[in-house]
Amino acid sequence: KEELNIIQGALELRTKTVEDVMTPLSNCFTIQVDAVLDFNTMTEIMESGYTRIPVYDAERSNIVDVLYVKDLAFVDPDDCTTLKTVTKFYNHPVHFVFHDTKLDAMLEEFKKGKSHLAIVQKVNNEGEGDPFYEVMGLVTLEDVIEEIIKSE
Ligand code: ATP
Ligand code: ATP
Repeated sequence: KEELNIIQGALELRTKTVEDVMTPLSNCFTIQVDAVLDFNTMTEIMESGYTRIPVYDAERSNIVDVLYVKDLAFVDPDDCTTLKTVTKFYNHPVHFVFHDTKLDAMLEEFKKGKSHLAIVQKVNNEGEGDPFYEVMGLVTLEDVIEEIIKSE
C-alpha cells in the first residue's frame, strides 16, 4: 500500500545518505566561471531546464558558485557579460555537505536553510598527496522527497 511505502521511505531517511540519492557530478549540468553569457550560452542554460547550476573554475570538480537561472533576468546577451560578473553580484552562498550526511539531517538543513540544493563532497585521502575535498555531485530537496514518496 502507498501509505506503507511512504512510512518506509520516511524511516529510511535515517539510514540512507545523500550519496545514495545525489545526482553524480558526471550527470550534472554545470558551467565554467569564465563563460561569456552570449546568446548561445544563455540558450544552453535555458534549455537545460535546471533552476540552479553549479559553477566551476578550471576543473568540473572545483565548484565555486551556484548560478540561479533567475539571475539572468537582467542580462542582455548582446552585452557579452561574463558569468563571473553575475555570480559576484548575486553572491549566493554555496551549500556543501559531506557524502555520508543522513537524509533526515539533510532534510532538516534544507528546511532551515534558504537553498534547496547542496554540493556533495568527500575527503579524498587516497594517493600520496595531502587529503583534499572532492565534489561528488549535487543533492536537492526533490531528491530527498523522492526518497520518501517513491513506491516500489
Ligand atoms: P526546481 O524544481 O526548483 O525548479 P530543478 O528542476 O532545477 O529545480 P530540482 O527539482 O531541485 O531541480 O531537482 C530535480 C532533479 O534534478 C534532482 O534529481 C536533482 O538532483 C537534479 N538536478 C538539479 N539541478 C541539476 C543540475 N544543474 N544538473 C543536473 N541535475 C540537476
Ligand atoms: P528557489 O527554491 O529556486 O530559490 P523560490 O524561492 O523562488 O525558488 P520556491 O522554492 O519554489 O521558490 O518557493 C519558496 C517559497 O516561496 C514557497 O513558500 C512559495 O510558495 C513561495 N513563492 C514562490 N514564488 C512566489 C511568488 N511569486 N510570490 C509569492 N510567494 C512565492
